[in-house]
Amino acid sequence: MSQFESEIKRRRTFAIISHPDAGKTTLTEKFLLYGGAIAQAGQVKGKKNTRAAVSDWMEIEKQRGISVTSSVLQFQYGGFCINILDTPGHQDFSEDTYRTLMAADSAVMVIDGAKGVEAQTRKLFKVCVMRDIPIFTFINKMDREARDPFALCEEIEKELGIDTYPVNWPIGSGKDFLGVYDRNKQEILHFSSNTNAKKSGTTQIDLDDPVLTDMLGQARRDQLIEDIALLDGASCDFDLNRVRHGKLSPVFFGSALTTFGVEPFLEDFLRMTTSPLPRHSSEGEIDAMEDFFSAFVFKIQANMNKAHRDRIAFLRVCSGRFDAEKEVYHVQGKKKLRLSRPQQLMAAEREIIEEAYAGDIIGVFDPGIFSIGDTLCSPGKKFRFDPIPTFAPEHFARVRPVDTMKRKQFLKGAEQIALEGAIQIFKLPYTGMEEVIVGVVGTLQFDVFQYRLRNEYNVEIRMDTLPYEYLRWIKEPVEFHETDLVLGNDTKLVEDYKGNKLLLFSSFWSIKWVSDHNPQLVLTEFNERS
Ligand code: GDP
Repeated sequence: MSQFESEIKRRRTFAIISHPDAGKTTLTEKFLLYGGAIAQAGQVKGKKNTRAAVSDWMEIEKQRGISVTSSVLQFQYGGFCINILDTPGHQDFSEDTYRTLMAADSAVMVIDGAKGVEAQTRKLFKVCVMRDIPIFTFINKMDREARDPFALCEEIEKELGIDTYPVNWPIGSGKDFLGVYDRNKQEILHFSSNTNAKKSGTTQIDLDDPVLTDMLGQARRDQLIEDIALLDGASCDFDLNRVRHGKLSPVFFGSALTTFGVEPFLEDFLRMTTSPLPRHSSEGEIDAMEDFFSAFVFKIQANMNKAHRDRIAFLRVCSGRFDAEKEVYHVQGKKKLRLSRPQQLMAAEREIIEEAYAGDIIGVFDPGIFSIGDTLCSPGKKFRFDPIPTFAPEHFARVRPVDTMKRKQFLKGAEQIALEGAIQIFKLPYTGMEEVIVGVVGTLQFDVFQYRLRNEYNVEIRMDTLPYEYLRWIKEPVEFHETDLVLGNDTKLVEDYKGNKLLLFSSFWSIKWVSDHNPQLVLTEFNERS
């Protein structure tokens, strides 16, 4: 294998998804510790003070002490070169969170053992399923009282619609947590609450061995044997091919905080997941091993600092090798250019880079020429990667400028910010531009929008939130009039700036009502025509 091939083969690019507080940050930190990328835990986003080191680009982040956009971290472990894409949660949840998943080749889903599947996990999971990427489950906080492991697996299967394969199985939880039994290796990984050691001890053991009773006590031993027999009989067989196509999720139990089960998880995960996947384009699949460079823009981060109105475009390298010395072709802009200041995040530091390979994520200076989904490739190539879908916003507001004389700047600003992908804007069809409806995935984007209009376009706005929570694009019929539809009072027909028609609903129930009353309607949650 050439050096070029082995560089790509050893890359693993994944996103970590979870509901806030499930332990995503803690698990990420432990990964970085194994990779030697950080010297001690607490450096990824040691809340407020140290977090600024990771992403200090936006003033609003500093003011609020939260990270508006997702970070990317690269580190080495066991010969692998790992890119972790962080997906922000809490109120900084935004479309970027979804788009980040477009850049990943697999996902690690962290679930709180006491809580099971939660709202945000469910949302992010849907996007992973749409792409058929492998999904690995880490059921965390087993050092605390957790729910029955069978019930947890069943919930994942039922709620998320993916089969599960428990790779290891917990022996108790909380005060009684003794460790996990690895079904493949047939060994017990012992948990001890007073060790914070990197690796807890393991014992290779046959479940029939009488020593097991001494080790676990009669009751725990019997329970484990019964559980494993049940699992072997009833759960799915392990099938790597199904794992790689996102149909079967390997499940691991552990405790990120005490570093228990983290290393075996990381090792199995790296072994089971894939190197950079091929990507679909206007000229068919583009394989990571192609000898030309190609990448697409999945995120644009505006710099809120007025003195430097620059922006960073984040690229996922899809094929070949990126060489900072060489020109690339920007397909949508129809121009050859040199990417300036290409950089990568290595744990807490940003570094200017000279080269990158398929699978890597790089940030480049954007003088305002890139849009989400744009393709960059070696000169001579002209294909475009498939567009990144638009995700349904969940919060809506009616917005207008305080000063009606500033209507023009307002519209220009709103359109520009929408083009960058921070917000989506809609209007009422058939009425022209009487009002603008702004839709966002996370409410923080409203503040970002207001801040940017004030600072970059000198426009103060008035914002009235609307009671809608759900949006669906109308896929079919393509042509129709408002009077053709039977809509309830809590549903509004709007149009995006490309002329696509959409419906806003105030409850999930009303989506069903409208679908039932309009059998000709085909609604979608992701708009792939964007
Ligand atoms: P995130 O919001 O998903 O990034 O969650 P964090 O990693 O910030 O963790 C949320 C809280 O749960 C923190 O107080 C962690 O210390 C705690 N936590 C994380 N993992 C574990 C675990 O395995 N056991 C226990 N008991 N607490 C944990």
